[in-house]
Amino acid sequence: MTVDTLIIGAGISGLLAASVLQNAGQTVLVLDKGRQVGGRMATRRLTKDNKARADHGAQFFTVREPEFQKWVDGWLEEKSAAEWCKGFSGRDGYPRYRGMQGMTTMAKQMAQSLPVQTQTKVTNIDQDGQTWQITTESGDEFTANQLLLTPPVPQSLTLLDSGNVTLPSAERQALEAVQYDPCFAVMLVLNSPSSIPVPGGVQVRGEVIDWIGDNQQKGISEQPSVTIHGSPAFTRQHLNDDRTEVGNRLVDAAQAAGYLNRDDIESMQVHRWMYAQPIECYPDRYLKTAVNGLPIAFAGDGFRHARVEGAALSGLAAAESLKF
Ligand SMILES: Cc1cc2nc3c(=O)[nH]c(=O)nc-3n(C[C@H](O)[C@H](O)[C@H](O)COP(=O)(O)OP(=O)(O)OC[C@H]3O[C@@H](n4cnc5c(N)ncnc54)[C@H](O)[C@@H]3O)c2cc1C
Repeated sequence: MTVDTLIIGAGISGLLAASVLQNAGQTVLVLDKGRQVGGRMATRRLTKDNKARADHGAQFFTVREPEFQKWVDGWLEEKSAAEWCKGFSGRDGYPRYRGMQGMTTMAKQMAQSLPVQTQTKVTNIDQDGQTWQITTESGDEFTANQLLLTPPVPQSLTLLDSGNVTLPSAERQALEAVQYDPCFAVMLVLNSPSSIPVPGGVQVRGEVIDWIGDNQQKGISEQPSVTIHGSPAFTRQHLNDDRTEVGNRLVDAAQAAGYLNRDDIESMQVHRWMYAQPIECYPDRYLKTAVNGLPIAFAGDGFRHARVEGAALSGLAAAESLKF
């Protein structure tokens, strides 16, 4: 079956776009290589009994635009999101929101009413003259009239190259200018509470640590668990180092700053985000163009505004442009 719009990526931008297009009467299909939906709004179960959990990508989100507020109000009402606090070093009045069971909660909720296929890595994008042809790692093929790509932009460009899909050169150049910082995320299970101050998060912005958060105080983990994000400079410097070594360095820095005691650590996991947050964005909310007459659009947090809200608004805007 040829779908109206095939969306690559079940992060917040892809899922919101899929909701809008499905509500507009289109047939859609969302493919994601991850084990679960949510993309960089990621929550990991750290113990088999699920008592310890950690958000290892986005830690919280904020809302500035009424268009995004509408969706957030819906999530608050259905209890997939909750307010965490109104600031980390003093209250500045702006709510910081979290997912109810971690940052993936909203994505999981949305995916229930959408055709989403996870563990499906797209490896090739091509055309047969009439439609887009999408091939996955396991050899499955899909066809679509329109395509929406929501991975971090460098990954989307690699996909285009897989099938020699040539964009107009000005557009290609503009997309190539979108750049991201990498980030190491360390997830710790502790056997006693951390010393991270209330409300359970510190935007350290230091040379080594960028952020440290207490998932128990945040309300998503029964057992004490901590997330540490390495700074962009630290992560770049140690990008290919042994993960355990990287984790230990970040733990040392956290202990030296008084946030935790190494002796309390039960387990440690380390994740490397190659494309964590954009440092150079495409100027508009999305890019829509056509290749040999077939519509293709790009969206995500690399478009105009970074962060969860930027990604959401980008997906919504791209979807409007893809309505028939
Ligand atoms: C460490 C870290 C900390 C952050 N902290 C915050 C924060 O506190 N607040 C905030 O607002 N934002 C934060 N962010 C940013 C926020 O997570 C992102 O802006 C937002 O989640 C991006 O959503 P997206 O839909 O654009 O992309 P993504 O969530 O990355 O979704 C893209 C999806 O595409 C999929 N994909 C990629 N390639 C393929 C392929 N070939 N085939 C199939 N699927 C593919 C990926 O699996 C992914 O699920 C943070 C991000 C990180 C990594």
